[in-house]
Amino acid sequence: MTAAATQGIATRGFAVENKDAKFAPFEFARREVGPNDILVDILYSGICHSDIHQARAEWEPAVPSIFPMVPGHEIVGRVAKVGAEVIKFKEGGFAGIGCFMDSCGECGACTSDVEQFCEKGCAMTYNGTEMDRTTLTYGGYSKHYVVDQDYALKANFAEADLPGVAPLLCAGITSYSPLKRWGAGPGKKVAVAGLGGLGHMGVKLAAAMGAEVTVLSTSPSKEADAKKLGAHRFVNTRDDEARAVATGSFDIILNTISAQHEYGTYLSLLGLNGVMAIVGVPPAPVSVHALSLIAGNKTITGSMIGGIAETQEMLDFCAERGITSDVEIIDPSYIDEAYERTIRSDVRYRFVIDMKNA
Ligand SMILES: [Zn+2]
Ligand SMILES: [Zn+2]
Repeated sequence: MTAAATQGIATRGFAVENKDAKFAPFEFARREVGPNDILVDILYSGICHSDIHQARAEWEPAVPSIFPMVPGHEIVGRVAKVGAEVIKFKEGGFAGIGCFMDSCGECGACTSDVEQFCEKGCAMTYNGTEMDRTTLTYGGYSKHYVVDQDYALKANFAEADLPGVAPLLCAGITSYSPLKRWGAGPGKKVAVAGLGGLGHMGVKLAAAMGAEVTVLSTSPSKEADAKKLGAHRFVNTRDDEARAVATGSFDIILNTISAQHEYGTYLSLLGLNGVMAIVGVPPAPVSVHALSLIAGNKTITGSMIGGIAETQEMLDFCAERGITSDVEIIDPSYIDEAYERTIRSDVRYRFVIDMKNA
């Protein structure tokens, strides 16, 4: 496959041509490096479940899928070139790129460090357009990316850690932001519901913040893994007795479950003033009885990734503590198989594509 763009920096990625297609090599061009831009030689790119939804056009019509599509918004690489006015990065350093690659920079959201909610719509890293609303964006399943320095993150990790750093750019910040906002820390009891890509980061981050961490899961087989990741306790939510013991006991529940489920079951596990932060998206609406919130002054809330400043804060927090995602590194030829395994939750806990030799 060849894209129309002939100007700019020639690069190579892996794309799907339509929603039913398999991944195939794709030649295209990145924009030239402008004064504020950096060119990143991509080393690793994580596979996020939202890549699968968009590559298979499962979010249409809300989010139209643009083909050919090169997914990938969990990107780390080496800075290969910096523009004349770049001060944040030096050639040879490591940089990360997350879910969006630009925003207007001027609206209320952008000036409040929540660029992901840019009032003009931020430029998604792939399956979207740059802020000119013309130039298509292609993601991290590729050899290079060109991005404004203000929308790239410094990744101050050892090179050997970089595969596990890539998923921090989406799964990491998605878990970190609500945990931080709702006060996870010493003396707080945090439960993480669901132990997948998001949940395993939630456990590691909440434990590193100093909270007492419990994993809530319907799969008792996950108990050993939960504890290896840093959880102090495990509750099988299908076990009535275990659930009764845990009732009213948590300050925060990070709900990462994307399968259809009842929020009421989890709200009953919150104590007074408890908060359940939703980051998983069940396919259909979920109903909640008002009394499950009224009794105990409880809060149910959501959270979507994080702004650039908070994403940098999260990366620095992880770098200082040696926190990375648990990953399985794959060759680009394995992406289709990795998608099937991700759908089956058959991965501990994230696939990361090795783009170095691709
Ligand atoms: Zn993602
Ligand atoms: Zn904006």
